[in-house]
Amino acid sequence: MSKSYKDMSKEALIKRINTLENTIEKALKNKSDTFLVEFPWAGNLGQWEWFYDKNLVVFNDKKATQLGYDPDKIGEVGYQFFTNKLHPDDYERTMDNMRQHLKGETEAYEVEYRIQHKDGHYLWYYDRGVVTQRDDSGKPVLLQGIVFDITESKKVEEKLRQLSEEDELTQTYNRRELYNVLNRLKGKYQKSGTVFSVIMLDIDHFKQVNDKYGHVTGDKVLKEMAKYIRNNKRDQDTVFRYGGEEFIITLQNTKLSQAKKIAQRFHQGINDLEFEDVGHITVSMGVVQYHSKESSDDLINRVDKLLYDAKEAGRDQIKSE
Ligand code: GH3
Ligand code: MG
Ligand code: MG
Repeated sequence: MSKSYKDMSKEALIKRINTLENTIEKALKNKSDTFLVEFPWAGNLGQWEWFYDKNLVVFNDKKATQLGYDPDKIGEVGYQFFTNKLHPDDYERTMDNMRQHLKGETEAYEVEYRIQHKDGHYLWYYDRGVVTQRDDSGKPVLLQGIVFDITESKKVEEKLRQLSEEDELTQTYNRRELYNVLNRLKGKYQKSGTVFSVIMLDIDHFKQVNDKYGHVTGDKVLKEMAKYIRNNKRDQDTVFRYGGEEFIITLQNTKLSQAKKIAQRFHQGINDLEFEDVGHITVSMGVVQYHSKESSDDLINRVDKLLYDAKEAGRDQIKSE
């Protein structure tokens, strides 16, 4: 059982309060001089102290201005002033991290989250703090931490992720990402028996498009085609540029009969499209459902073979098992 304030003697309580008040006073005083200073060399550094018992958060001005608030106007704030502004997708993760540290289960509270600026947009923060004082019963009294605005580096991170996973021309995922996704789908199949299917699609006589209208127009066709597929696929499905004018669509939680219907819909939809300068274009497709224990390469070979059959049979059609 932890010792609560109710069980403390009056003297102990007064002593406790005095210590707390002293610490707060010291921090508030320091706020204007040396403790919570701006660190220009560290970029967007903020510092904070959270007086847990009183739920009072003390921080340097920049931590407020960075979020669009006037530090002289916001007055005293509690922890919720910040947590209320967390992105909904980051809220639980951040709270969990803090809860664990408060309970003494981790060495530090350390987390990256999005926090909302007064204008409504979100900033990415890296936040790290530790309980620097606990009372006799182990209850946190004071936490101190630092916070960085990492919005810019997150943008770079996102760009790098895009470059490594996406095909720039068509804004679909690339071949490398296809293998990652297939591994995930295979994992799900092994774990819970969730089936999936794959469509491989190849533009018919695309070489002629290039030859007749030029490579730039050919690129535009590829872009438009990819856009059509992206906009007409289901949310759970993913589009990849497998090769020059070949696309793969992975269909999560989908068996062959359903996959064939989806392929037919794409086939018809693409047939009905009118491409700028070029007009109508046809595509050929192969459709397969994943077989138990099959490797990604074997799956791709199987669907590739069906696509080849569709070409052999005169193009502008779908072949499936
Ligand atoms: P098929 O009906 O048998 O598929 O005939 P095809 O001409 O489409 O097939 P083939 O594989 O012979 O040629 C594919 C062509 O796609 C070759 C190449 O010029 C073109 N291609 C590949 N990548 C790109 C690209 O990024 N941009 C453009 N404009 N053309 C590309
Ligand atoms: Mg082709
Ligand atoms: Mg091809």
